[in-house]
Amino acid sequence: MSTPAVFLDRDGTLVEECGYLDRLDRLTLFPWTVDALRLLKRAGFTTVVITNQAAVARGIIDETFVHSVHGEIDRRLEGTGARIDRYYYCPHFTESKIERYRQECRCRKPAPGMIEQACRELDLDPAQSFMVGDRWLDVACGRAAGTGAVLVRSGPERSGPPEGLRADAILNNLMEAVGWILRRSLRSSTR
Ligand SMILES: [Mg+2]
Ligand SMILES: [Zn+2]
Repeated sequence: MSTPAVFLDRDGTLVEECGYLDRLDRLTLFPWTVDALRLLKRAGFTTVVITNQAAVARGIIDETFVHSVHGEIDRRLEGTGARIDRYYYCPHFTESKIERYRQECRCRKPAPGMIEQACRELDLDPAQSFMVGDRWLDVACGRAAGTGAVLVRSGPERSGPPEGLRADAILNNLMEAVGWILRRSLRSSTR
């Protein structure tokens, strides 16, 4: 049976946005990240990171470093009851100087490729799931994949939505988003 998930943008949503994260000592979880993830796990959600990492295509970091960052996040969550079940990242950029990353891919948000891949590989149901991110492209990605979509204001983006795009909720941060998701899924399960 397909299960519900919360798809999470990484930079500006789980961790502080600091331009291109290129050193592990610049990795800072928001103060509420551990508690928010713990609540999601307790409620039975699979937690999946969905992140664009064009810094790879730009040659600023390599894929090994992306894995190191995710390993470091896992290390900081160890023993807390919070967990990320799987990480997906897009290393591509159409104007990359590095040939293998220079492509019009299906995974770069706002395209829904990473969420679709996660749903196939982890047997997740998009209709019961949510995408949470700090940019409108995160909302667009969730919409395209058929999930709910919550915008959080914990990153730098302050612009209004692109024409025709709407978030299910606009909240200050991941903790507020998780509260909203838990109330919402409680309502639909007792309907
Ligand atoms: Mg972000
Ligand atoms: Zn890609």
